[in-house]
Amino acid sequence: MDKEAFRKYGHELVDWIAEYYETIEEYPVKSRLGPGDVKKQLPSAPPDKGEATEKIIEDFKRIIMPGISHWQHPGWFAYFPANNSPVSVLAEMLTAGLGVQGMIWDTSPAATELEEVVMNWLRDMIGLPAEFSGVIQDTASTATLCALLSAREKTTGFEVNQKGFDKTLRIYTSSQTHSSIEKGVKIAGFGKQNLVYVEVDENFALKPDVLRQAIEEDLQKGFVPCCVVATLGTTSSMAMDPVEEIAEICMQYGIWLHVDAAFAGTAAIVPQYREFMKGTEKADSFVFNPHKWMLTNFDCSAYFVKEPEILKRTFSIMPEYLKTAADEKVNNYRDWGVPLGRRFRSLKLWFVIRYYGQEGIADMVRKHVGLAAKFAGWLKENPDFEILAPVNLSLVCFRYVKQGFDDATLNEFNKNLLEKINASGDVYLTHTVLNGKYCLRLSVGQRTTEERHVRRVYELMQDFIS
Ligand SMILES: *Cc1c(COP(=O)(O)O)cnc(C)c1O
Repeated sequence: MDKEAFRKYGHELVDWIAEYYETIEEYPVKSRLGPGDVKKQLPSAPPDKGEATEKIIEDFKRIIMPGISHWQHPGWFAYFPANNSPVSVLAEMLTAGLGVQGMIWDTSPAATELEEVVMNWLRDMIGLPAEFSGVIQDTASTATLCALLSAREKTTGFEVNQKGFDKTLRIYTSSQTHSSIEKGVKIAGFGKQNLVYVEVDENFALKPDVLRQAIEEDLQKGFVPCCVVATLGTTSSMAMDPVEEIAEICMQYGIWLHVDAAFAGTAAIVPQYREFMKGTEKADSFVFNPHKWMLTNFDCSAYFVKEPEILKRTFSIMPEYLKTAADEKVNNYRDWGVPLGRRFRSLKLWFVIRYYGQEGIADMVRKHVGLAAKFAGWLKENPDFEILAPVNLSLVCFRYVKQGFDDATLNEFNKNLLEKINASGDVYLTHTVLNGKYCLRLSVGQRTTEERHVRRVYELMQDFIS
């Protein structure tokens, strides 16, 4: 592609994205295609000769777009959001344009040093103490894997890295934890049977006394307690584990404490919501995802550790061809995680934080929390609905109820209700099950969501139940 063509199509695609954002509400939030619908329109073999850019772009619009679910649609209330922002898109464009692979300082000093600076900003923004150091990981799943591996090595004096396992190490987390904890436990070689799920209270938060008991029992059996993963903002119901009390237990037994605040972490930027963070200063590691609620394009996960030396020693390898003169004076982030190669992700964070400022981000979070509270308020005034978990931050878990109907019937009814709401194309919600009760989740967090979008969910439900 010559430079004139690059300019032409570059401008055309930026215009297309701008237009897409302006008209996004015309699309059904969730793609209406069925399995195989995209695949059958694509040739099974790649072209022998290069094709015209026009043709590729045309096929993108014709074949790919109908198979897109619109995460940036203001009616997105499914899962957790993965919101972005125009300024983040521009930064991603620069990252793509530069095509930097920032595995070590030497391969682009700015990529490493900007990451160090913005991660310090981010740490201060969420109120973590200055003794934490940050590094960007692709996802929270990877960050949690890093925490589990670091805990494994610290607990065994870096023996597992050398010799493999010769003891049974145990990991503890609540029954409401994210699936990435089990995945990490399996990958790190602990064995799924050594992941201990601790019971939760009526608010779906981990019970510290049950955790203590589980640790005591394991010690008696000759197991080695290794790591506790606490969650701030569970995916199912936004439950907040009591990190302060959990941290006390971890310190008493010398167990690594990792805190997973993948979604909720962004809310700590707002001082009035920061209460849930209490005790995180005593954790060994902490993760949250700017790619969920902080206007930053996927992927960008912020991982903070108190002792980077442990992280580095867990991952460091030093082949001759990667040695440089700067090694003693700089961070080489290839030693701070699983992959060697690294995308220049700090650029978009820098653009986002500078463009919005801490106040701009806090305002958005307040707006979303306010909308969730408003929605919960409507449900509370309506006897047809029941809220099934404490409304924390921007998530509401609820269901339709009717006197005299058992849970099985209500579960079926709510499942159908959710399908009908989503079929409208105006909004998209997903579900969870709490204490055997099927419930709908309204998760507010898309940048452009307004009251009318939340209202639309309520109106659609009225239509379908009347
Ligand atoms: C979303 C989420 C994760 C996983 O995040 P990825 O970045 O997609 O790996 C982990 N834990 C919690 C609590 C989450 O909400």
